[in-house]
Amino acid sequence: MSWCSHLDHVRLTQLPESVEGCEECLKTGGQWLHLRICLQCGQVGCCDDSPNRHARAHAAGSSHPLIRSIEPGEQWSWCFLDDVALQIPGVQGQTRIPPSPLMG
Ligand SMILES: [Zn+2]
Ligand SMILES: [Zn+2]
Ligand SMILES: [Zn+2]
Repeated sequence: MSWCSHLDHVRLTQLPESVEGCEECLKTGGQWLHLRICLQCGQVGCCDDSPNRHARAHAAGSSHPLIRSIEPGEQWSWCFLDDVALQIPGVQGQTRIPPSPLMG
């Protein structure tokens, strides 16, 4: 189902226990909808439906192509270079996240 050639970029094997939100949004007072985590460096960013799309911006700015959703119950990953959804086995844990400021 997936043709991503960037699996060697995956460095994250353990998801954080909890996060405060999108790191860039927290710095700048932005608001996120859904949270994604960079599978290379662990930076938490916001989804493409968020006003600032920080996960995509991080991927473009850092050449870290792979993210994973950390929304409750979601385990899918996405490659921004191949534009493909995929499942990446071997990433352990589940992250507690606060509710989206946009949904409040
Ligand atoms: Zn890829
Ligand atoms: Zn953000
Ligand atoms: Zn990264």
